[in-house]
Amino acid sequence: MQNNDRLTTLKGVGPEMAKKLEVMGLVRIEDVLEHVPFRYENYNSGTVTTAVHGDLVKWSGTVQAEPLVRYYSKGKNRLQFRLLLEDRYAVQVTMFNRAFYKEKLVIGETVTVKGKWDMNRMTISATDLEFGAPSGGLQPIYSLRAGLTQKNFSRIVKLAFEQVNDLPEQVPQAIRDRYRLVDRMTMLRGMHFPDTVETYKQARRSYVYEECLMYQLKLQAFRKMERSGNGRALHLDKHQLNEFVKRLAFPLTGAQTRVIREIVSDLERPERMNRLLQGDVGSGKTVVAAIALYATVTAGYQGALMVPTEILAEQHATSLQELFEPFGITIALLTSSVKGKAREALLTAIRSGDVDIIVGTHALIQGPVEFSNLHLAITDEQHRFGVEQRKKLRDKAEFADVLYMTATPIPRTLAISAFGEMDVSTIDEMPKGRKPIETYWAKHDQIDRVHTMVDRELALGRQAYVIAPLIEESDTLEVESATALYELLKERFSNYGVGLMHGKLSSTEKDEVMKSFADNATQILVSTTVVEVGVNVPNASLIIIHDAERFGLAQLHQLRGRVGRGAHQSFCILVGDPKSDVGKVRLKTMTETNDGFVLAEKDLELRGAGDFFGTAQSGLPSFRVADPVLDLKVMEVAMQDAVKLLGSDAFWHDAQYEGLRGYLKQLDLLVGERLE
Ligand code: ADP
Ligand code: MG
Repeated sequence: MQNNDRLTTLKGVGPEMAKKLEVMGLVRIEDVLEHVPFRYENYNSGTVTTAVHGDLVKWSGTVQAEPLVRYYSKGKNRLQFRLLLEDRYAVQVTMFNRAFYKEKLVIGETVTVKGKWDMNRMTISATDLEFGAPSGGLQPIYSLRAGLTQKNFSRIVKLAFEQVNDLPEQVPQAIRDRYRLVDRMTMLRGMHFPDTVETYKQARRSYVYEECLMYQLKLQAFRKMERSGNGRALHLDKHQLNEFVKRLAFPLTGAQTRVIREIVSDLERPERMNRLLQGDVGSGKTVVAAIALYATVTAGYQGALMVPTEILAEQHATSLQELFEPFGITIALLTSSVKGKAREALLTAIRSGDVDIIVGTHALIQGPVEFSNLHLAITDEQHRFGVEQRKKLRDKAEFADVLYMTATPIPRTLAISAFGEMDVSTIDEMPKGRKPIETYWAKHDQIDRVHTMVDRELALGRQAYVIAPLIEESDTLEVESATALYELLKERFSNYGVGLMHGKLSSTEKDEVMKSFADNATQILVSTTVVEVGVNVPNASLIIIHDAERFGLAQLHQLRGRVGRGAHQSFCILVGDPKSDVGKVRLKTMTETNDGFVLAEKDLELRGAGDFFGTAQSGLPSFRVADPVLDLKVMEVAMQDAVKLLGSDAFWHDAQYEGLRGYLKQLDLLVGERLE
């Protein structure tokens, strides 16, 4: 029998069972073997004297006395018998609704029971009983759906193992020898039926390495493919570039200069750039983007800057316009609000090369926009892109260099898994003279004092953001709603203009609200998190975040970054009465540091790797067993191995790498000779 045969070929898997398994994506025998337990119950295999009250135990002994059964109403029953453990301790075993065992239990024979140890009464409330000596200490627990029981599934796994006696290896022999990893069959058996913790550890080690190697092969092959051949080298005039930098309103920070060097040398190289630029909120990424765009345009090509929202697109277009006007460089803003004839004219100008730089939302590169000669595509505030989405974007921008900018720092521990296929540049220094934002945590009942602060800032001519998590009142969640807050604040601050912003407004309405806040026509802006990303109103010096404990640290930090963008001392007030410890730690951490990198590490610690990027658009792959943080060392080793493998001749010819080559081919990452 073959491991890729359908499950129905197993005796004991009928059509009905097969259907249940299919719901879980398990169709072939191999799928079942690969569906390893997601956790194990570790039954205490210690002794009666070492076990603690309440322990889950799995003990065997000899049946000492005739079992007793009591019957209750509705067919329920209770079975009890005495078991002699370690030839010394007589304990009572209780099982519910297992009267059928009564006839099978024979005095003097060995049985193994699993259950909870009640030390005071010397009894075991057993959930399971096996005849004979125990088998294995770790009990696998599978993630199952659609009415499958653990017992049922275990049986199917056993059937599958009985039928398959050979599995193709993925990890080459040489590597397995080097790290003392077990073969695939031993590994999968060890994951499903570990008789000892040691066996399990050995199997897990092999599994984790295999997962990391496959993943890194994918990333590194992708990286190699993207770099090979189809890029172009720009010829840059360094003198001209320096002149441009000199004419900026401020000297660049050391970190900005360093990352610009990294980007410029990418532009000059014939391979395609695939770079992530991370820098805290306000660290000055926009000017870095501007310099890269300037270099591209003066070398004779077009550049594009893509952002997640129209507000941000307009903001960037305006500031680039100011910067580039003296140099005769033309900027176009392409958003969904540019319609009809104007849009046609704009598209023509982009196609003919009359426009040098195009700013817009992501529709820019997804839609039917034709460029004359696009070379540099930059995406701003793009912290939630997964590998696949990044690949898609690069496929669209066929010959282009791509630069991703994000203000959400990626913890060092995650970068290798999440961005292993990219080069990373980091701005780790703030422009001089920034006043750190002062952050305070207020309880709900201190809101009057918080409003006094608003009075003070408004009297000084400043403006304030007030953030609420939800748009409308909700009975189920006790959260402040933006709309309710808006009504309340309009009354409380009746001498000032109050604006309301949320995601359900049309983009024209949003623009109006934003514009009147930017022009200081309104002094208070009540908003949901739509202002989270990139929005720049330097006169705003205060941000109040309601129910702050409901936000993640990264998001709170982004929100806080809306203030402190001008010369004024700025403040962030977190309002909340967190019930959970995590909530408390979050708010406390916010008051203690302004450093996005520190916060990112803390966020990861509080949430775990799986949640860090959010679920839907996770930048992380979902591993079955490996943990990108805990298994970082393995991931690093696997990355080096993947690079070495792809760079070796043998990889492309030797039979032992056939499995891995097949894997890359199936991912579409091996397109003929492009990789070789
Ligand atoms: P972010 O990295 O969050 O996108 P921005 O690019 O919007 O940050 O920069 C924030 C502010 O800092 C802008 O007003 C910008 O003009 C200013 N800035 C950028 N670089 C410097 C610098 N080297 N010195 C002084 N101010 C700077
Ligand atoms: Mg920015």
